[in-house]
Amino acid sequence: MPLADIKERIASACKTSNRLPEDVALVAVSKFQPAEKIEALLKAGHRVFGENRVQEAEDKWPPLRGKYPDAQLHFLGHLQTNKAGEAVALFDVIETVDSEKLATALKKEMDRQNRPLPCFIQVNTGDEPQKGGVAPQNLAALYRFCKEEAGLNVQGLMCIPPVDEIPDLHFALLHKYAQELEVRNLSMGMSEDFESAIRYGATHIRVGTALFGIRENDIAL
Ligand SMILES: *Cc1c(COP(=O)(O)O)cnc(C)c1O
Repeated sequence: MPLADIKERIASACKTSNRLPEDVALVAVSKFQPAEKIEALLKAGHRVFGENRVQEAEDKWPPLRGKYPDAQLHFLGHLQTNKAGEAVALFDVIETVDSEKLATALKKEMDRQNRPLPCFIQVNTGDEPQKGGVAPQNLAALYRFCKEEAGLNVQGLMCIPPVDEIPDLHFALLHKYAQELEVRNLSMGMSEDFESAIRYGATHIRVGTALFGIRENDIAL
């Protein structure tokens, strides 16, 4: 689906909930997408992208950033502390902080590289054992640690609802947590449900397949 159509759908969802389209950032999730497809979006003027693997982003993005230095890359995947340095060097926003250990490693690298990046805390709203994100009952403590101990710039919360559940409850929960902590940004909503996420206050939606088509790894599966 072309970029213009997605923007149209964002505008219409914003209208329904009395919000401004400029308050909803579209993060184009380009994982497993070839560089040609990414470059087509860059040529169309889009600048905000998301990837979930450090190695893949290191392979694909340096040439694209060379041509489009104002492109902004969000990290959306599980981050191992030993990859914190590479992630800080390549990405502009880290959306998936979920432990004190990772927060500490990221801050150390940000200081070392003099790149103080905005971060989101990923919340495991569905309490799924296999999923990244801090458990809801530990969110407040982690948020306090990130801000007060580690000194990270935490700008928002992020969640990936369980695939087999209606996402609205999770969007509502994330919204409530953000209000309680007084954080501004909410990264939630993907191809199938971004309009609903916008109704619950998403400031960042992460859209992959609806923009780029089916992923190369999905075809292989
Ligand atoms: C892949 C991915 C997306 C995009 O999913 P689509 O269903 O393709 O829109 C969003 N967020 C995260 C964290 C992802 O890994």
